[in-house]
Amino acid sequence: MLIYLEKNLQENERAKHIISFYKNPIVLPIDNYKNIFDKNISWNTEKSVIIASLNNALTQVPENYGFPWEGFFFKNSLNCVYDCRYCYLKWALKNNNMQVFFVNYEDMQNQIKKTLEQFKKSQYPIWFYSSDYSDNLATDLISEFSDFFIPFFETLPNARMEIRTKSTNISHLLKHKNITHTEIAFSLSPQEIIKNYEQKTPLLDMRIEAINTLIKNNWKVGLRFLPLLEVKNYREIYTDFLKYISKKIDFSKINSIFLGGLMYTYEDYNKILQKEKTLDVLYKLEKNEDGFYRENREVRTWFYDIFSEYIGDKKLSICLDKKKN
Ligand code: SF4
Repeated sequence: MLIYLEKNLQENERAKHIISFYKNPIVLPIDNYKNIFDKNISWNTEKSVIIASLNNALTQVPENYGFPWEGFFFKNSLNCVYDCRYCYLKWALKNNNMQVFFVNYEDMQNQIKKTLEQFKKSQYPIWFYSSDYSDNLATDLISEFSDFFIPFFETLPNARMEIRTKSTNISHLLKHKNITHTEIAFSLSPQEIIKNYEQKTPLLDMRIEAINTLIKNNWKVGLRFLPLLEVKNYREIYTDFLKYISKKIDFSKINSIFLGGLMYTYEDYNKILQKEKTLDVLYKLEKNEDGFYRENREVRTWFYDIFSEYIGDKKLSICLDKKKN
């Protein structure tokens, strides 16, 4: 494996751990990850890894993104081991072949603490959403992200972290006991959609098993139905899916549930169309006045209503949309 390593991290223990994970690593020193990552290397070139540091890991989330309180995207890694066809990383990042690990975790801790200072009068928790630029749990044994950040968040009274994932790599989490400030949020889709649109990701049943194991071990678990896709026969597929998961998952033990349709900004939509010309669900989207391409209102309303029917409204939040215009 070709590994690009920023020169100032050559003695960094976390960097050494990542390198040790790969067979026959060839390590090339670099000044700054952007010099390699931003070169816009084409889609099919050889996979490689970059180990780097990042100055600013936090960005404020837009309104209605998730929990109804202040929140920040927490960036610690770029690119994903999975290959969902609709994934925004495919055009949002300049390079899709390089897995980037930012290893200056202590700096990230300081940024989180500093950010919390600004909200110290808030009576509500501040949320930090990790895994929006990668799937942290899928690469956790390499990055040791959870082992470092889960205990850290327990020390911050007013902070909460979401680790959003499709991975079932949870056994190493079980050594952490009484965790109340981190929620493991599983993205779920009907198996047919996983097969056709979420390549390389674990099966639905494996995700359900991971969910139930974590619940049994008193973890806070969330469910994310994002994005809901208007595939052929979507009403039948999602109704069967809801019937199935209702039998397998006790929703009363779930901490939070978010859902939302497929959506892209006008600019992003045109970029993904260039890369995924045969992705059928893209052609179902309509230009909305709110600056997004989305599934049409009737489809979204059908999705929101059917999820309310099966799951109830109590824990359900609609992400970046409203139930009615
Ligand atoms: S799991 Fe998430 S981040 Fe990874 S490819 Fe799929 S949508 Fe993208």
